[in-house]
Amino acid sequence: MKIISYGELLIDMVSSAPDAAIGQARDWVKAPGGAPANVAVGLQRLGAHAEFWGAVGDDPFGEFLRATVSAEGVSVARLQTRPERTTIAFVATLASGNKEICFYRNPGADAHFDVAQIGADAFDKADIFHCGSVSLSLEPSRSAQFELARRAREAGALVSFDPNWRPSLWDDFDQARELIWQMMPLSDIVKVADEEWEFVCGTPDFAEGASKIREQGPKLVVMTRGAAGASWNCAAGQGEVAGFKAKAIDTLGAGDSFVAGMLSQIGAAPSLDAALNADSLNDILRFANACGAIATQQAGAIPALPSRAEVEAMLA
Ligand code: ADP
Repeated sequence: MKIISYGELLIDMVSSAPDAAIGQARDWVKAPGGAPANVAVGLQRLGAHAEFWGAVGDDPFGEFLRATVSAEGVSVARLQTRPERTTIAFVATLASGNKEICFYRNPGADAHFDVAQIGADAFDKADIFHCGSVSLSLEPSRSAQFELARRAREAGALVSFDPNWRPSLWDDFDQARELIWQMMPLSDIVKVADEEWEFVCGTPDFAEGASKIREQGPKLVVMTRGAAGASWNCAAGQGEVAGFKAKAIDTLGAGDSFVAGMLSQIGAAPSLDAALNADSLNDILRFANACGAIATQQAGAIPALPSRAEVEAMLA
């Protein structure tokens, strides 16, 4: 099973102070970041063959990110090295518990992915192409994403889209929503987290939002609901799959681990259509919920992503 994940790979500089704003924080811990890169590593740990497509800078941070993803066994043959600097996000946790995020991405290598370097055979034997919305915020990575999603469909791969909403990256929220909706007709599987559901769908109601999405073409809509688990909606109906009890210490990357789990199981099914019934979706999302739950039990995103054996232990 070959799954391609396209998008941002960047440095998170995380303040080690529990309650200091970015301007007051003194100590920073460097960590690899970027949702699509987390998904690629998650898939590889679950036994899929994952490729990560994106761009880093020709600098020590870019070398660190390439080495980190490659050490997991993810194919980085189409991870480009660019003259722009590797993107950095400084992240501090305020006394309120809210995060303050400040991006160094003007320009940032991640947004300068050059689609012309993707060879004609890049989608050969690809089962799934997965992407998010961070690459939609700037050109040329925005146009590249639309082109890659189109080419993935032409090659017969499923397209999976996670409109993970990062307000700090956008000046114009209406434009963000418009671009997210331009991705819908190109997508087969759409996963949205509960906190971003209303922003994306324009309604808090799951059935109403999911049918708006499915009218555009996607066959499966999934909403993640933190500890409560996940809900699904497809032509066969709608249902909920309960989450697992976890000693959550850091939920960073839980959604990405969930996506990796879901895609690894869908990729293993004979077809997406064959998976679109209550019994199969229950199994697939139970597996994905276990992946999400395990990812909350360790600090950081990549270090917390589970192996298939760990997921099977939780399912048992
Ligand atoms: P995101 O990380 O994108 O905000 P969620 O918080 O909804 O997404 O988490 C994604 C998935 O991870 C959930 O659907 C669930 O399966 C699992 N998960 C998240 N938080 C917990 C938790 N506290 N306990 C158990 N499972 C969790």
